[in-house]
Amino acid sequence: MVEKSHYDLIIIGAGPAGITAGVYAARKQIDTLIITKDVGGQATWSSGIENYLGYVYISGVELVRKFEEHLRTFDIKLDYSTVTSLSCSNDVFHVGTKDGREFVARAVIVSSGKSPKLLGVPGEKEFTGKGVTYCSTCDGPLFAGMNVAVVGGGNSGLDAVVQMMKICPKVYLIELEDELRADEVMRQQARAAQNVEILTGTRVREILGDTFVHSILVENVHTGQQRVLEVKAVFVEVGLVPNSEFAKDVVRLNEWGEIPVNCGACTGVPGLYAAGDVTDVPQKQIICAAGDGAKAALGAYSYLVRQPVPTDWVK
Ligand SMILES: Cc1cc2nc3c(=O)[nH]c(=O)nc-3n(C[C@H](O)[C@H](O)[C@H](O)COP(=O)(O)OP(=O)(O)OC[C@H]3O[C@@H](n4cnc5c(N)ncnc54)[C@H](O)[C@@H]3O)c2cc1C
Repeated sequence: MVEKSHYDLIIIGAGPAGITAGVYAARKQIDTLIITKDVGGQATWSSGIENYLGYVYISGVELVRKFEEHLRTFDIKLDYSTVTSLSCSNDVFHVGTKDGREFVARAVIVSSGKSPKLLGVPGEKEFTGKGVTYCSTCDGPLFAGMNVAVVGGGNSGLDAVVQMMKICPKVYLIELEDELRADEVMRQQARAAQNVEILTGTRVREILGDTFVHSILVENVHTGQQRVLEVKAVFVEVGLVPNSEFAKDVVRLNEWGEIPVNCGACTGVPGLYAAGDVTDVPQKQIICAAGDGAKAALGAYSYLVRQPVPTDWVK
């Protein structure tokens, strides 16, 4: 059977923004395809969510399970792949995937969110999944009873430290700047712990191991003094980057790589909408991403009903 390639709407990404856009598109009976690497996105990584309406407390995994269950009550097609290109000609969008397929859409919603920033040091790629991890919530319990390092002194880094200091004999916190940037309450918790050693003004030079990580080489940025820390895991928590690379030929990105949108989730390119963390909307939260997804789908619906269907459109 020949795979259907033409859709009225393609949604790229199924985090909170894309899932909500999918629900709204389904309720408007728009012929929609969601192309995504996974379902849930960053929301899955949160150990506990206390700020999504309707739940006083819920784990990220459980909230995403409920989102997906809701989405799947509608007849909406999900394709698990990675979008690598997006272009537009004659009011029609072409969406290319990593596995070499091409889809065509009259409107597109980009809701591809953010991914963790890499350290870019030797050993990082080699030992990813073998001690190097970007999600303490997902992988933290695997390293209970072992010495670990957390890189990054912002809220995510301190979140990882507070989690790991309860289950590990020793936790090193490594921060490039001379000060930790996390909220004071979290800094206090880390400072008060006997088993946390905070190394500010320090960079990771290399991650070392054989089959798995066994240590990291760190360097004081002021003195150049180096030290090897024996750890079994490195939690990289140095920030997030927008997943917008594939869209740069069709829309102008801002200096952080985000897609600028107006309050209606319009990008300025007719038929192209963007929602959630991939946009320049400053509030990076689940409820905000979900709201943006709803706006984007409603915007796409209004656009599609007004826009004439190309005469050569394949249904
Ligand atoms: C550790 C952590 C804890 C958090 N805790 C909270 C919290 O308690 N409360 C709160 O409100 N917010 C929290 N957040 C923030 C919240 O998770 C995000 O704001 C929200 O998930 C953004 O949703 P999104 O749909 O825009 O993007 P994302 O959640 O990033 O989802 C993007 C989706 O796009 C897919 N994708 C990416 N690139 C491609 C591509 N090229 N092709 C196809 N698919 C692609 C991804 O696989 C994913 O499905 C937390 C974030 C983190 C990292």
